[in-house]
Amino acid sequence: MENLEGINGTLIWYYYICPREVWLIGHSIESDQENDFLVLGRHIHDIYYKRQKKEFIIDNTIKIDILPDKKVIGEIKRSSKFLKSARMQVAFYLFYLKQKGINMEGELLFPEERKREKVILNKEIENELEKAVENIRKILQKDKPPSPTKILYCKNCAYKEMCWS
Ligand code: SF4
Repeated sequence: MENLEGINGTLIWYYYICPREVWLIGHSIESDQENDFLVLGRHIHDIYYKRQKKEFIIDNTIKIDILPDKKVIGEIKRSSKFLKSARMQVAFYLFYLKQKGINMEGELLFPEERKREKVILNKEIENELEKAVENIRKILQKDKPPSPTKILYCKNCAYKEMCWS
């Protein structure tokens, strides 16, 4: 069984976007909470989702949303631009639950785009998650964050002031 202690869905999400952000979040470096895109993300979450979902916290670390009408893990995203990250984040929740003997399916919701996508765990994804968990641990063990690399995500990142000013 894979040791997932200290790893959560947010770290997995950022692992597929920016390793520097994994380090910053993992070391509790505060981001700009009033970043417009973070505020918008929270807003969308409230409008589209709050009344439908049930939130659970497992082992004091993993926060998952269950869609009661479907009995699936749901994850809402503002856009499908970072689809791989979103898929792997939901897959991680499924993987985590599977290790506890609970088999579920996942669903990604993109309300602004009126899109949804199923996420189903398979051996290939599990292997990839194991590798991601190992790499995240390596990133977090470093004394300093990886250097910033300009990517599409930087434009809306809550750490952009820290990285690029
Ligand atoms: S601003 Fe860019 S480089 Fe810096 S943490 Fe965010 S995504 Fe990573």
